[in-house]
Amino acid sequence: MKLFILIMFTLILAADLFDAVAFESIRSQEINQCLSGEIVTWGDGKDRSAVASELKFVYDHAGAPEWFAESQVAAMVAKAAAEWSQCGIRVVMIDRVGVWDQLKGVVIKVQWSAKESRGNFGLANQGMRTLSLGPGPFALLKARNPKHDARETLQLVISHEMGHFLGLMAHSRRCVDVLSYYDNGKGEKCYSRDVSQMKLYKEYRYLLPTACDIERCRMINGKPPLPDGKLPERSQAK
Ligand SMILES: [Zn+2]
Repeated sequence: MKLFILIMFTLILAADLFDAVAFESIRSQEINQCLSGEIVTWGDGKDRSAVASELKFVYDHAGAPEWFAESQVAAMVAKAAAEWSQCGIRVVMIDRVGVWDQLKGVVIKVQWSAKESRGNFGLANQGMRTLSLGPGPFALLKARNPKHDARETLQLVISHEMGHFLGLMAHSRRCVDVLSYYDNGKGEKCYSRDVSQMKLYKEYRYLLPTACDIERCRMINGKPPLPDGKLPERSQAK
C-alpha cells in the first residue's frame, strides 16, 4: 500500500511537472515572457509615449457587420483595454456613445467605417482619436473562409490598433506579438524561437498584447520593466 501511494505520488508529481513544462507550447512561452533582446521592430515607425496619460475607449456599433453582436465587440474592446493596462497606463472602456462629442479629445472612439479604415481591417487615427474597423475586409474574410472564427480576427485587430494609441508606432518583428506582421514583402520574415512551430497555427499572433508588446509599451512610456519580462499570471496564455 505504501509503495502504491508512493508511486501515485510520483506519478502526480511527474504529471504536474509535465504540465508545467511540456504543455506550455513555444507560442505560449513567447506570449508569456519577453526575453532580453526580443524587442525588435521592423523600423517602420517611431515609438513615442501614449497619446494621453489615461486612455478611454468608447464603442459605437453603428455600421457593424450583422454577425457581430454589440455586446461581443464591446467585450473585446474592454478585454484589450484591460490587458493593455499592464503597460502602466490606465486604459478603460467607457459606455458613453451618446456623449461622444462632449468627450472628444479625451476619448478614443472605436467605430465601423469603410472610409476611415481605408481598406484595412483596422486603422488607428491618432489625430482624430478614432480606431476604425473595416466592414469590407471582415465581410471578405467571412465569404472566403466561413469556417474561420472572425471574432478572433476582430479581437486581434482591436488589440493591435489599440497598441498604436499607447505609442507603439513601429510594428514588431517578433511573430507572436499582436503588433507584429510576418514579413515585409521583401523576403524578410518575422522572428520566432522555433519557426517550425508556426505552421501548426493558422494565426500565430496572439489576440491580445504579449509580454514583449507590454514590455515595449512600458519602455516607451517610462515605466519599469515587467518582473522577469513575464506577464502576470492572470494574463498568461496556457
Ligand atoms: Zn499597425
